[in-house]
Amino acid sequence: MNRSDDPYALTLDALEERVNKCTKCPLSETRTHVVFGEGDPHADLMLVGEGPGEVEDNTGHPFVGPAGHKLDDVLSSVGISRAEIYITNVVKCRPPGNRVPTKKEMEACSPYLEAQIALVNPKLIITLGNTPTQWLVPGAGGITHIHGSFIPWRGGIEIVPMFHPSYLLRNPSRSKGSPKYLTWMDIKKVRKWLDDNGRQRDSDRL
Ligand code: SF4
Repeated sequence: MNRSDDPYALTLDALEERVNKCTKCPLSETRTHVVFGEGDPHADLMLVGEGPGEVEDNTGHPFVGPAGHKLDDVLSSVGISRAEIYITNVVKCRPPGNRVPTKKEMEACSPYLEAQIALVNPKLIITLGNTPTQWLVPGAGGITHIHGSFIPWRGGIEIVPMFHPSYLLRNPSRSKGSPKYLTWMDIKKVRKWLDDNGRQRDSDRL
């Protein structure tokens, strides 16, 4: 591979520039905008969803629709802001009608996600829902069984699967054992892990 073709040899900005022009899979024909991902390029915590939805496709930004607002609620409940995380999806272009991306589409897009992970170098990745969980951890159990587990992954990264925020929107109950309740327990575990294991930031030392 020519070095200029290698996504790992790029900066995040240069990678985004390349992905914005990508036509490697048929999703390029129906997208309005590529949704590359955004956030702190040195974040300890990275979130990976399935793919952009309608609002994301219209704006080019990840998790800005109703599911994104729900995600913000989950994160802010333990004091995590968007500014301190990096967030992206397995595929960067919207599958029509929000269908699950095909294996071929995910394979075509995968080098970009792999490069993002390598460049951001997070300590912990939250996978949102079954699709990103199964993509990064093939053979992992269903999300209802493994949500909130800490799965050791390559290079010392921990993966924690959690329910997708759109699933929480469809299941509004907060009662004990509900998806919302379980998500709250999961994000509290993530918060504690980050407090115990996250990199010390300059602002923390002041
Ligand atoms: Fe390229 Fe990924 Fe978009 Fe397919 S989904 S066109 S591989 S950026």
